[in-house]
Amino acid sequence: MRKTLIFNIQKFCIHDGPGIRTTVFFKGCPLKCSWCHNPESQNSRQEMLYDKDKCSLCGQCARHCQVKAISITNGKILFDPHKCRLCKVCIDVCSNNAREIAGEEYSVAELMREIEKDRPFYEQSGGGVTLSGGEAMVQIDFVAELVATCRERGIAVAIDTCGQAPTENFLRIMEYVDIFLYDIKLLDPARHRDYTGQDNRLILDNLKVLSDQGANINLRLPLLAGVNDGPDHICRVIRLIQNFNISSINLLPYHDIGQGKYRKLARDYPAEGFDKPPAARVAEIKAAFEQENYQVKIGG
Ligand code: SF4
Ligand code: SF4
Repeated sequence: MRKTLIFNIQKFCIHDGPGIRTTVFFKGCPLKCSWCHNPESQNSRQEMLYDKDKCSLCGQCARHCQVKAISITNGKILFDPHKCRLCKVCIDVCSNNAREIAGEEYSVAELMREIEKDRPFYEQSGGGVTLSGGEAMVQIDFVAELVATCRERGIAVAIDTCGQAPTENFLRIMEYVDIFLYDIKLLDPARHRDYTGQDNRLILDNLKVLSDQGANINLRLPLLAGVNDGPDHICRVIRLIQNFNISSINLLPYHDIGQGKYRKLARDYPAEGFDKPPAARVAEIKAAFEQENYQVKIGG
């Protein structure tokens, strides 16, 4: 049976597409955005998260780890991910819930059982399921089976995508997708590479293909002060999309709520120094799109 790694299933979401939704977060992403607020989504393997603030240094985890992946030296917990076999024993023995593993395997049937639980809310609100991540579109065999099952059962599907996936993946599933929530981060390919690790050619090509095929597209623009909130960039986006089939736009000012997750992964926070644009600038950007008759919302 085909399975994939999911790192979160969030219920009652109201910012990930129309109505009330269940958002399924896939693990693994082809981009590494400097401002990513879900760093546990980037790696396609399971990872140990450790919350230092909850830890009482009782040493239970180190004592029970059979492969000595955890040790305590000078009052500090050390963890060696290369030794860890992800057996979860340290999680079970930690009475402070200071440890967890990001990423759990699900089959389509197991995911559908979770998704189905909130069917009444989807029906009342015009909601459904949103596939997010990470990047669901790079796990296309699993996603194709999942979206076809949702369609069969009358559950609407949104896909929240960075666009960095083979074009044939989008073409394969677009008939089952009610709306694509499509990110545009930067238009200059070199700057896009600097900030995300990849240039944006495939992303822009896929956006055009989806538009040409008549997909319902909600454009999502993360906004960072001094990175992509300037008039030049916004004018270029407006020019780019004027011949595209875009149903609505969401402006997503940067926030730093992911900072704690980097600490739990023992990774440096790469977004130090980033900030959201001033509220007045965000309002100007909103007005610029509205002038072109787009329906625009600030936030998800
Ligand atoms: S068992 Fe939990 S509280 Fe105790 S040292 Fe390990 S992580 Fe910290
Ligand atoms: S998950 Fe298992 S192998 Fe990994 S640190 Fe915990 S007890 Fe050790």
